[in-house]
Amino acid sequence: MVDINTVGRTFNIQRYSIADGPGIRTTIFVKGCPLSCKWCSNPESQSKERQIAYRNTQCKACGKCVAACPKQCMTLDEDGIHIDRTVCDVCGTCVKKCLPGALSFSGKDMTAQEAFKVVMRDKDYYEKDGGCTCSGGEILMQPDFVAAIFAQCRENGIHTNADTCGCGSEEAMRKILEYSDMVFFDLKHMDSAEHKRMTGVGNEQILKNLDICMHSDAQVVIRVPLIKGFNDTDENITAMCETLKKIGGQTPIISVLPYHNYGENKYRMIDEVYELTDMEPPSQETKDHVKELIESLGFECRVE
Ligand code: SF4
Ligand code: SF4
Repeated sequence: MVDINTVGRTFNIQRYSIADGPGIRTTIFVKGCPLSCKWCSNPESQSKERQIAYRNTQCKACGKCVAACPKQCMTLDEDGIHIDRTVCDVCGTCVKKCLPGALSFSGKDMTAQEAFKVVMRDKDYYEKDGGCTCSGGEILMQPDFVAAIFAQCRENGIHTNADTCGCGSEEAMRKILEYSDMVFFDLKHMDSAEHKRMTGVGNEQILKNLDICMHSDAQVVIRVPLIKGFNDTDENITAMCETLKKIGGQTPIISVLPYHNYGENKYRMIDEVYELTDMEPPSQETKDHVKELIESLGFECRVE
């Protein structure tokens, strides 16, 4: 049973996406994630709270926001604006004062019905295999909202894809799966201690939810962010494939996502520090090797 009036918090809705599942899709990104992956390209997605985002490329250094802030928690220096986020109450006074648009809100609340109306705007473009993807952040943190969007999609013949890191309750996973045609399931590392070192959380609960997905009616695609020196070893890739075979249920496609640093500038937007500044993308040789290894272990592999 779903309630289309369930309110969720999003940080983006992307229309005409071709990277979040088959065909042309509308992707709803929900805000809040239990993981804090060091390579995350959407750092603004991690906090469930609404935040003020700052783009220093658009800032004219006029200081009007600093003067207007009722909490006096903004400063301006040669690097632009800084916000003391322990004091900021996200009142939005600074956003209104900033005519060049350097300041904005990250986080918008809406009902599942409102989100679905956005999805419906592009129904004519979905054709037979496009549809709606819910991503994050982490969808398992807002299962009622996501399930209510997907239920409306189902009623209207729109394909649904649940993009998850798998970290959430089994009840939340089942709730979303009930209305999911496809699942993009992230697997980052098979060793829980290593997983925790780079994401802040062990992988035990993730593997429980993986089991549930693999034995569901939804088509599972395993997504592996390939991070040099973290999860690109033969040992880890082999352990991942062996785990998938042991779980059984279906033989998923494994989609490898080579590390990139496109999100690095977003850390400055929310006054956070990107730790992987020296990280390089995996070489072509590594990508080819990982693909060959996965295929030799019996899985179809795509390197995105
Ligand atoms: S949102 Fe309000 S409290 Fe926060 S920095 Fe802007 S003006 Fe100050
Ligand atoms: S009001 Fe906008 S443009 Fe002016 S200093 Fe603040 S962020 Fe920069």
